[in-house]
Amino acid sequence: MNTSSAKYKRQREDMVRRQIEARGVTDPDVLAAIRNVPRHLFVSEALEDQAYGDFPLPIGEGQTISQPYIVAEMTQALALSADDRVLEIGTGSGYQAAILAEIVSRVYTIERIHPLFVRTRRLFDRLHYHNIVTRYGDGTSGWPDESPFDAIIVTAGSPKVPEPLVRQLAVGGRMIIPVGDRYSQDLIKIYRDQTGIRQTSMGGCRFVKLIGEHGWKKVQR
Ligand code: SAM
Repeated sequence: MNTSSAKYKRQREDMVRRQIEARGVTDPDVLAAIRNVPRHLFVSEALEDQAYGDFPLPIGEGQTISQPYIVAEMTQALALSADDRVLEIGTGSGYQAAILAEIVSRVYTIERIHPLFVRTRRLFDRLHYHNIVTRYGDGTSGWPDESPFDAIIVTAGSPKVPEPLVRQLAVGGRMIIPVGDRYSQDLIKIYRDQTGIRQTSMGGCRFVKLIGEHGWKKVQR
């Protein structure tokens, strides 16, 4: 191990204890995944030293990598099992997808900004995340050919829950999505059973916009 990876491993451990366990995340698979994924490789070199801070960071194209605690909280809320198939909308830096890929057998992730899509696909290859399947396009319509999914995670804020995503959730499936206006959203958890869907709120959050046919239209402010 070179010096910088030893340094970042210590920072990661500190982040898990102070930011994530301290706020009540207990799922051992989530904690192990966060201990394992080198978050500093998912940001630009100029921001590497800030990668383990308690905040989101810019990743270019006006987008962000989410705060570590939010990633942990949303992942825990999905209540994942090893053989689950998970759909993520909003690949961004790839960090959330990598956390999921440490826990489940297959992750499908969609990104609408081409340069981010290309850069992150290369990173997944470099880090040998062979169980992450990527797609370029509007994720608000989901990925019908690969549905149903055991879990769906949307990492951008939407004015409403996109109907196609609800349809692509398996019976017993869970979805987490920020819903609200452009300034603040509620983190909504949706559970699908034989009779329909149940919805609960996990509290406030702030994400960049989910832009697409079933999210914000490009011209909406
Ligand atoms: N999960 C990401 C990570 O770990 O870095 C978070 C990235 S950022 C908070 C949200 C991402 O959602 C951005 O990269 C943005 O381009 C993308 N996005 C917004 N609307 C989208 C859509 N309709 N389909 C796919 N991606 C979308």
